[in-house]
Amino acid sequence: MTTDPTKPEILVIEDEVQLRRLLRLSLEEAGYAVREAETAKSGLHELVHHIPDVVILDLGLPDASGETVLRRLREWSPVPVLILSVFSQEGSKVAGLDAGADDYLTKPFGCSELLARLRALQRRIKPAVAASRFKFGSVEVDLAHRRVRRAGHLLKLTAMEYALLQLLITHRDKVLTHRQILRELWGPNAEGQTHYLRTYMLRLRRKLEEDLDTPRYFQTESGVGYRFTSEPAEAV
Ligand code: CA
Repeated sequence: MTTDPTKPEILVIEDEVQLRRLLRLSLEEAGYAVREAETAKSGLHELVHHIPDVVILDLGLPDASGETVLRRLREWSPVPVLILSVFSQEGSKVAGLDAGADDYLTKPFGCSELLARLRALQRRIKPAVAASRFKFGSVEVDLAHRRVRRAGHLLKLTAMEYALLQLLITHRDKVLTHRQILRELWGPNAEGQTHYLRTYMLRLRRKLEEDLDTPRYFQTESGVGYRFTSEPAEAV
């Protein structure tokens, strides 16, 4: 199906056929282009290949929770996400918001309420375009599958090395302070522990930089923090 590029695009990840049908009807009538996925797996697959303008995500999916989908998605994209929950899932709604959802609706909800929430989301958040695969030099990072290759060879990164790499890539071309990175990776109590960060940055540079003495990608902002710089890769 070809979509009209002027229409905002919505991906609906929802396993209930009736609700999906209803959502498609109301959203298309309101001028949106709609794509559908009925499982967490197929939803993630869609998201890896193409980021819509907004995602409507059901928290209770048959193969994995919507929260899992959201956590994975947030590893590479800030696209606005509206979660759908039912009253018996109050806890998962909070977990969904903690995991990076932008808004929520509790089922059953009215179509006018849904459309109002979507308009608010689009006003508040600019549509995001992000690639799930990222290249710099001979290194290729597959953010959706958490794989790092150098010159085509799969590299072994520890969880913390990968977390640091992912954080820097997500905020590429921006300076991240030591405090921001430490808080993000080790929690608020570690904000002063810059030696942790130096250690992991050295490890990451050893694995990913071409010349350790003059790092090209993982740049030190003296006394401030680090900046990751590269040319963006094409979207997959
Ligand atoms: Ca469901």
